[in-house]
Amino acid sequence: MIRINEHFLKLQASYLFSDIAKRVAAFQQAHPERSIIKLGIGDVTHALPPACVAAFHRAIDEMADDATFRGYGPEQGYPFLREKIAETDFQSRGADIAADEIFVSDGSKCDTGNIQEIFSTGARIAIPDPVYPVYLDTNVMAGRTEKNRNGRYDGIVYMEGTAENGFVPELPREPVDLIYLCYPNNPTGATIDKAGLARWVDWARDHRALILFDAAYEAFVRDDGLPKSIFEIEGAREVAIEFRSFSKTAGFTGTRCAFTVVPKSLMAWDADGKAHSVHALWQRRQSTKFNGVSYPVQQAAAAVYTAEGRTQTTALINAYLENAALIRMKMQELGYACVGGENSPYIWINGKKNSWAFFDELLEKAGVVCTPGAGFGTCGENYIRISAFNSRENVQEALARIASALAG
Ligand SMILES: *Cc1c(COP(=O)(O)O)cnc(C)c1O
Repeated sequence: MIRINEHFLKLQASYLFSDIAKRVAAFQQAHPERSIIKLGIGDVTHALPPACVAAFHRAIDEMADDATFRGYGPEQGYPFLREKIAETDFQSRGADIAADEIFVSDGSKCDTGNIQEIFSTGARIAIPDPVYPVYLDTNVMAGRTEKNRNGRYDGIVYMEGTAENGFVPELPREPVDLIYLCYPNNPTGATIDKAGLARWVDWARDHRALILFDAAYEAFVRDDGLPKSIFEIEGAREVAIEFRSFSKTAGFTGTRCAFTVVPKSLMAWDADGKAHSVHALWQRRQSTKFNGVSYPVQQAAAAVYTAEGRTQTTALINAYLENAALIRMKMQELGYACVGGENSPYIWINGKKNSWAFFDELLEKAGVVCTPGAGFGTCGENYIRISAFNSRENVQEALARIASALAG
């Protein structure tokens, strides 16, 4: 009799965005005449930068000719892309990262989910609350938790983000081995400064812990004082892995390209206390289970680093950041305390009531879809997340409707 992996049964039954989709569909069916503006799910809405599209086309033409055709590529990515990433995203900012420490992949969701399999099932995991659900669910699947009780799993150390700590959790007060951090944060839009991040790096060094740093939103950082990479912090090469993605940076959510940085100096230990290279383990894992990203997609991603590509992606992100500033300003004007919306496409709003109730109110009265904070964890209760990923016109229309709905 074939048995299932029963850890899957511990997962919370419904997925946040399918719940939202159901409520939106029901509302639309009941009110077919109402127009709905979606500022919920974190997906980009603007087209790929023209430089990426041109490189994509050129690479497809190469695939159409025997003389330039390419079959299986290197699992870790083509050197032309890894070198550009290392130089532009790291070395030029004073972060000592080499091209062979970059692992190109088809997504940070996959990488943040897969990385945990190279660590012990007994590793003690620290996860923020509120949080991007992938970190938690993949550890549940791996059997690192007990059952869920009242929205929390026994066996996880939850690091609470609250208004009091500005959604940057305190350092763990108990021993943990693997720490998930994400800045600029999804869902809260909060950022961390260099001194704040240095405290985490120092803590990890003192405790031989490892930080998984999700920098999916680094391109939204415009404040020079804020780090874009954890490797801008001294000592991080010994304790951190960083995840980056072209999804939000260059509109690649449907095109798929990301990368993970694993320094060669990063070690983890076996039961006998012997040190092992995490880079070697991840290399082995990827070579076995991953076939690399398609050549045309890697060429499209490399175009982000051309002069044209940089100008175009900056303009793309500026447009979203301007939306974010408008949302933040309007919600504050309406009397709501906000986090994020600066150096981030997300605005985290204290709705002063149950987050699903506020979600329903905005849907019914304004026809605007947001994301209820409770879907990201216990600490998200009474908050909603509004995303800046939409056109200027839709954001302005949504804000006008929210203003009259909440006033009336
Ligand atoms: C969007 C997002 C990513 C990127 O995921 P991809 O799989 O690369 O599209 C990673 N982390 C967080 C927190 C995100 O919101």
